[in-house]
Amino acid sequence: MFGLILDFIYPRKCLVCNGIMPVEDKNIFCFNCKRYIHYINADCDNEFFNKKNIFVKRNYGIVVYNEYFKEVIHRYKYGKKEHYGKVLAILMQKKFEQIIKTHNIDVVIPVPIHKNRFRVRGYNQSEILSKVLSKKVNVKHDKNYIWRSKDTKPQNNLSVKKRKENLKKSFELVDKENVRYKKVLLIDDIYTTGSTLEGCAEILTAHGSEVYTLCLAVAVK
Ligand SMILES: [Zn+2]
Repeated sequence: MFGLILDFIYPRKCLVCNGIMPVEDKNIFCFNCKRYIHYINADCDNEFFNKKNIFVKRNYGIVVYNEYFKEVIHRYKYGKKEHYGKVLAILMQKKFEQIIKTHNIDVVIPVPIHKNRFRVRGYNQSEILSKVLSKKVNVKHDKNYIWRSKDTKPQNNLSVKKRKENLKKSFELVDKENVRYKKVLLIDDIYTTGSTLEGCAEILTAHGSEVYTLCLAVAVK
């Protein structure tokens, strides 16, 4: 009953088209948009990911970053839709919980954003995903293990080589001495060339960790 009242006051909307969902439909994508959400098979053996990356042990993704899912990410990141993070993290959990167990992950870490960007956006979209996911799968969450020391330019229009230069030394460990993790799961919202994740993985590997990554959406070339 209470749920019904809440649905009336705050009708749930489809994450893709923002259309109001029927009360009885408990999905996060409406009947129409659902058809355009393509899930990535966990056993795809890196076919979507950059083979030249060396520090990440294995990459994983949940959905294909197509024009429909782009709407979801865009609203989540730039539209002050912080609450999307929770439902998207639950989606990640549903598709990925078993793999976290298989790899014996001991900590979940979000890709950090620079404090300047945090100030503008108000939140780190990857941190909300990783925080909720880690809680759901009962694995430690550490958002302060690595930090972004350089405010890199937006990466979208850069070549792979330029991206790497751009990211050089932009991540640092906060505590080099006292905390060591064996198996880290890095979380980000979108996978494009993988260079951001590689940048993080490089310093984590140097500190003795084995690094796996999980992105909500993967841009398929
Ligand atoms: Zn829809």
